[in-house]
Amino acid sequence: MSIDFAARLQAVLARIHDAERRFQRPVNSVRLLAASKTHPADAIAALAAAGQHCFGENYLQEALDKMAELQTLDVEWHFIGPIQANKTRGIAEHFAWAHSVDRLKTAERLSAQRPEGLPPLNVCLEVNIDQEPSKHGFDESEVAAVARTVAALPRLRLRGLMAIPAPASDFDRQCQPFARLRELHDRLNAEGLALDTLSIGMSDDLEAAIAEGATLVRIGTALFGPRA
Ligand SMILES: *Cc1c(COP(=O)(O)O)cnc(C)c1O
Repeated sequence: MSIDFAARLQAVLARIHDAERRFQRPVNSVRLLAASKTHPADAIAALAAAGQHCFGENYLQEALDKMAELQTLDVEWHFIGPIQANKTRGIAEHFAWAHSVDRLKTAERLSAQRPEGLPPLNVCLEVNIDQEPSKHGFDESEVAAVARTVAALPRLRLRGLMAIPAPASDFDRQCQPFARLRELHDRLNAEGLALDTLSIGMSDDLEAAIAEGATLVRIGTALFGPRA
């Protein structure tokens, strides 16, 4: 049986718009990023045909293969996976955004490697908002200093913060880390940065993320079904 991607997309957009209304967010203030890792180029093409514009990939080689297959599609590619040092050039050359910058060195490499013919690479700093030792991301305490440095890099445009909190099933617990990230975001703006992006919320917690100020939700399973 083939998946009805148009219906899946409409259902996710309806969840986003319901949450915007319910939590007094402006209409269309939350962008949908389709997290397409492990899903084939056909599925991306079907969602794009249904109107989806932004796609997020986690693995560079997989992403480059799909981009090659989908060259004629007008879509925007976002990198959302862990960024190893040997992947920065490919990301700088092929993506519009990188959400998962978690080291200053990575930001410096992305800036140095961003081709002159492209607009600056949009980046978010990933924050380890739960302070889990095993996790990627800057500590909250170091984000302000890093953000000032990254904002000054010539070939990057610092857009905001990203986090992947530990899964929680009840709404109030889902909200807590998102609220902390939003406070951090607001504090950075009060200190003079011009951030406009909070990249938070996945299939199971997008309502909580929108309640706490998400401007972009990264949705995989609810659009594509389970990953193999
Ligand atoms: C896979 C992934 C998502 C989407 O997760 P779902 O729970 O399938 O919606 C979002 N963000 C990142 C960074 C991911 O790797």
